[in-house]
Amino acid sequence: MKEIKHYINGEYVGSASGRMFDNVNPVNGQLIAQVHEAGREEVDAAVRAARAALKGPWGRMTIDERAAILHRVADGINARFDEFLEAECQDTGKPKAMASHVDIPRGAANFKVFADLIKNVSTEAFEMATPDGTGAINYAVRRPKGVIAVVSPWNLPLLLMTWKVGPALACGNTVVVKPSEETPTTTALLGQVMKDAGVPDGVYNVVHGFGGDSAGAFLTEHPDVDGVTFTGETRTGEIIMRAAAKGVRQVSLELGGKNASVVFADCDLDKAIEGTMRSAFLNCGQVCLGTERVYVQRPIFDEFVARLKAGAESLKVGEPNDASANMGPLVSHKHRDKVLSYYRKAVEDGATVVTGGGVPQMPGELANGAFVQPTIWTGLADDSAVVTEEIFGPCCHIRPFDTEEEVVELANSLPYGLSATLWTENVSRAHRVSGQLEAGIVWVNSWFLRDLRTAFGGSKQSGIGREGGVHSLEFYSEMKNVCIKL
Ligand code: NAD
Repeated sequence: MKEIKHYINGEYVGSASGRMFDNVNPVNGQLIAQVHEAGREEVDAAVRAARAALKGPWGRMTIDERAAILHRVADGINARFDEFLEAECQDTGKPKAMASHVDIPRGAANFKVFADLIKNVSTEAFEMATPDGTGAINYAVRRPKGVIAVVSPWNLPLLLMTWKVGPALACGNTVVVKPSEETPTTTALLGQVMKDAGVPDGVYNVVHGFGGDSAGAFLTEHPDVDGVTFTGETRTGEIIMRAAAKGVRQVSLELGGKNASVVFADCDLDKAIEGTMRSAFLNCGQVCLGTERVYVQRPIFDEFVARLKAGAESLKVGEPNDASANMGPLVSHKHRDKVLSYYRKAVEDGATVVTGGGVPQMPGELANGAFVQPTIWTGLADDSAVVTEEIFGPCCHIRPFDTEEEVVELANSLPYGLSATLWTENVSRAHRVSGQLEAGIVWVNSWFLRDLRTAFGGSKQSGIGREGGVHSLEFYSEMKNVCIKL
């Protein structure tokens, strides 16, 4: 049986308490590994190591040296691509076809993108007049923030964790990462890659455990952490924000969503169906940017529902090695209980179940997996919990609308504002409606098309701050102004 340990100050170490928890494969319910659970002692040690490393070789390196190391980290992930792929697919159950195109390559790219960016980003300088006529020059320098706590979720484990660790290290910080308890393996594996790439000990640390009253809380409450970056549920974000308030630590919060897709009758229907299939069902619906609310203009409503139903019914649910499978299981049986509770609630609230709504018949050991059927509903009231709460499963509710004004109001009616998708061939409408949608990211005639230089983040209760490109650098560094009197 495999054991997964913490990675602290360049060494894999177990918990002093000996406390462990199970890492279970959601494909078949089998145990993958036993994971050490960090207590305050291990979290303290990791934060101490990260603090000390700021003053070590890492803190004295030039930007070029740091960037070269981060390139080697990316190359190291690619060199061990199959190992990362196997680990990510065992932890999450997702198809290898997806993880090999999205999770692992993006996990590596996150280091290269920010290494290149930090080498090329400029700051500012101002000449100013002084009363004695000699003048002064102001210039800004970018300095690391210090020790960054990274708390990450399970849906895209390596991708979302490195999306934070990449820019944090590029800016010269040190990190302590607390990966999701559901998906600890790739974060653990990255320790070896860091070591081999020449990242000094103490720069990248990992502590495993749960959230409240465990490693997550111990880390985010730790007084010697300078900033907290978190991706996960909105409710957890509120708790973390409170923890970070003590000591006035800055937070970056990438939180939940209940994203709308708006399909106008003037859209290219083939593209809208293909895009909605992906936005509702990719990664078994466990994508924060995914679409659980679909609004379709009345003239094409029936056709849209029929075609999306046919699409959902053509999806194959299977295990990661099955190249013909489009979807794996949900990440865990616990999460499946949550998703199935919404499947039941939809029926109680009077939904028409267009397709799915239950658990598929799976062969052999897959019968013990956390699989659910891709599901589509119509006919729910706008205030049903199924329409207002994030389910995070392979499902969506489709509702007809008549006018642009009506659909903008519907799309904006929830406290979330992560992303929205718009399908129309009318360019004026595309600009007009994009401007009116309350979301941090709007896609027109596409979904999940990402340029890593662009701002990523949510409005309203979907988050605080933006990551991506220079926006990440804003969070992971401090601008210091130096004023020189001439
Ligand atoms: P979660 O909030 O349950 O857990 C996320 C992480 O926080 C885990 O590592 C967990 O152990 C830790 N945690 C939980 N309670 C904590 C506490 N009290 N103190 C400190 N840490 C704590 O979220 P999840 O279920 O892992 O992920 C799914 C959620 O993440 C969904 O809401 C999804 O929308 C959101 N998400 C958002 C984005 C985005 O970019 N906005 C991206 C991916 C996922």
